[in-house]
Amino acid sequence: MSVNTISKDRFKQFVEALIQSDQRVVGVQARGDRFVFDDLKAADALRLDYDVTILSPRKYVLPPKEPLLKFDGRASYESLQESEPMVLLGVHPYDMAAINQMDLLFSQDEYDNHYMCRRKKMTIIACDVATPSENVFAASMGTATVDSGYDMLLTDIGDAYVVEAATDNGKALMNLMPDARPASEADIEKRQAVWKKNEHDLNKHMLECKPSFLPKLLEKNYDHPVWEEKARLCYSCGSCNQVCPTCYCFDVQDEVNWDLKTGVRYRAWDGCLLQDFATVAGDHNFRKDRAARFRHRLYRKGKYVPGKIGGQIACVGCGRCITACTAKIANPVDVYNQLMERTDIG
Ligand code: SF4
Ligand code: SF4
Repeated sequence: MSVNTISKDRFKQFVEALIQSDQRVVGVQARGDRFVFDDLKAADALRLDYDVTILSPRKYVLPPKEPLLKFDGRASYESLQESEPMVLLGVHPYDMAAINQMDLLFSQDEYDNHYMCRRKKMTIIACDVATPSENVFAASMGTATVDSGYDMLLTDIGDAYVVEAATDNGKALMNLMPDARPASEADIEKRQAVWKKNEHDLNKHMLECKPSFLPKLLEKNYDHPVWEEKARLCYSCGSCNQVCPTCYCFDVQDEVNWDLKTGVRYRAWDGCLLQDFATVAGDHNFRKDRAARFRHRLYRKGKYVPGKIGGQIACVGCGRCITACTAKIANPVDVYNQLMERTDIG
């Protein structure tokens, strides 16, 4: 690991050089008064002072619609891999934590070649949060800072960035920063101060228990009235799923050509709050009830996924679902805190 400092002017030159390289560069940019990850065409468009993006970088590690294979009747099929070298620039710690979780989920048990090939071609430049969003609660979830997964980590310390190169890819990128100098003790202290501030400030909704207690809390509350109370207002629109960096459910669909023989098999994002998510053959829907779907989302984040990845809670506190939910019921902290209020945890 190497830690350097580069002035903001020189950093802009680095971004220009990156854009001129033979890799696709995706970075955070403004759209009106909000922010998105999109292909970066000019260094001036990059906004590392953003609060939160509308969609998370999940759309690059697990695209909304992805071809898996093409087929020709029962005669043959050919796997399709769509991936290219890509630099993802400006990933916040909570989104990095979500990608780290997805890396684990897609590489254990059934190794997912499509996902993993794409990930291996990806270089991630993370950046510490400079502007807290109105609904972030990453500090409650232990994701206000992150110490793994990225190739490079940037921290804004005023007139410069502290740049940590954590992998060989990250170190190779340092070649595009000839003016960077080893970070001084004062720079490192400024970086520590940013981390300390974010551990405090990124907490607009405070979870009233340790995240590690959530599986136990949920175990006691399967029949709690909160599921029905909240779900009564739910539109089953699935927005909370679509914006979430840790939601990874997909549906597999065949698109058959006019010859009724050849076609392409895709996977596309799905969402457990959508009415037909649990519909199976014979038109049976085993989660027809809105309250059951609403409960499933919170159980998945707080109990089921943690059971697969060593206890890590599958909510990183980005706050996007809170902003996206028209009915104002999707806030996981609100639900978990209500369970805490009404539960004897002794
Ligand atoms: S559940 Fe909501 S706050 Fe948690 S990671 Fe998903 S979108 Fe972000
Ligand atoms: S965004 Fe809100 S209304 Fe829409 S499915 Fe999620 S909880 Fe229900």
